[in-house]
Amino acid sequence: MKIAVIGTGYVGITTSASLGESGHRVVGVDIDQEKINQLSKGILPIYEPGVEPVIQELLAAGTLSFTTNIGEALQVSDIIFIAVGTPSLSNGEPNLQYVKDVALEIGKYIDSYKVIIDKSTVPVGTADLVKGLIVQEMRKRGVDIDFDVVSNPEFLQEGKALQDARKPDRIVVGCSSERAKETMQKLYENVNAPLFITTPRNAEMIKYASNAFLATKISFINEIARLCDQLAVDVTEVAKGMGLDKRIGPHFLQAGVGYGGSCFPKDVAGLCTMGNHAQVEMSILKDVQEINNRQPKWLVEQMVMQMGTLQGKSIALLGLAFKPQTDDIREAPSLKLIPLLLQAGATVTAYDPIVNTKVKDLYPEIHLAKDAYAAAKQADGILLCTEWKEFLELNWKLIRKEMKDNHLFDARNVLSIPEMEEAGFRYWGVGRKGSVQ
Ligand code: NAD
Repeated sequence: MKIAVIGTGYVGITTSASLGESGHRVVGVDIDQEKINQLSKGILPIYEPGVEPVIQELLAAGTLSFTTNIGEALQVSDIIFIAVGTPSLSNGEPNLQYVKDVALEIGKYIDSYKVIIDKSTVPVGTADLVKGLIVQEMRKRGVDIDFDVVSNPEFLQEGKALQDARKPDRIVVGCSSERAKETMQKLYENVNAPLFITTPRNAEMIKYASNAFLATKISFINEIARLCDQLAVDVTEVAKGMGLDKRIGPHFLQAGVGYGGSCFPKDVAGLCTMGNHAQVEMSILKDVQEINNRQPKWLVEQMVMQMGTLQGKSIALLGLAFKPQTDDIREAPSLKLIPLLLQAGATVTAYDPIVNTKVKDLYPEIHLAKDAYAAAKQADGILLCTEWKEFLELNWKLIRKEMKDNHLFDARNVLSIPEMEEAGFRYWGVGRKGSVQ
């Protein structure tokens, strides 16, 4: 099939790669000329494991191309994916301007039947909005061309995006015509995953409700962790015991520094604003947000309690990305912790395997180190913020030797307490007092 993917960010690039691998001809479109130049040369403007070689192969085979010219891309495509960003506005509502811009462009250039697919995360009713804008532009041109708008939300996780796109748990398709349904079935016939077909409005809600549910699990276990901390219980043991129950499951029950990234915070906020508009009180989700906002503050309070004060103390911050295997720092917990540490009077030396200058640009006061060992040298304490695999494999004894003091704050609960104690650290984990004693 001939496909245009509008928006070549984390989702658009991965979607282009996985559709290309499935044998479709794909053209990726973006307004960012620099991104398109890089992509056309086979260089990924983001860090996403495994995607770059696939893009290079498809470019070489001539089945994938990139352009800033949406009109040309529309002419050669029957299926148009909209994969542009929908970041939060200051009131929490998703900013639909990029989606609307694309809809207007489609209306300007559409010349034959197309299936237009919303892959961006968009509020309930957006498929109708997109349809209306396309019709409005067509009317201006005095044309009336048949088309369908389908909702096909994306569920990939950064860091394992290609894997998720190749083998998703499910593909959700919201469509309102038989013709669009058949096109979507054909589009995904090579992907081994259940195809759940429903209405566009239902599909739009499935995406928000899924992300909000996962965020709720995280805030739930973080609240339990704070109680565990007070009651000398180990939350990691509690989560393991809970997760063995099939009704609960083990996933998203890792207590830590709170959820971040480009999706959970924005989608929980977006769902709350949908509730406001519909006059439905979203009280659980408001608490989920509140708990999440409080978590980094609570963590820094714990650091102050353990260390007496942070004034004049040197903290090595390990990990800046919002999670391992990505360069994405949108809503990253590190960005909340850094100002709290600086306000408390600490100096911060940070290291991340992939992210570097982006955070230093935001907080010029911090120092960047070339690796974890250099970051920890002469530090009073270490704060492990992102659980990159390389941090699990460090020579912790060596690190301890080079430090001024021996505080270790494991904000992801990924280090072994006996091993860290043996290396000479005073270990603190999120809700793990039960294990330390
Ligand atoms: P992103 O910010 O990485 O990429 C968006 C791209 O769209 C940018 O390259 C931007 O230049 C481009 N763009 C903006 N306006 C455009 C226009 N008019 N024409 C062409 N290109 C345009 O965003 P992302 O992380 O890929 O997310 C895209 C959507 O997918 C969002 O709605 C997001 O919520 C959703 N989503 C993201 C993830 C994720 O993990 N990143 C997962 C699932 C769903």
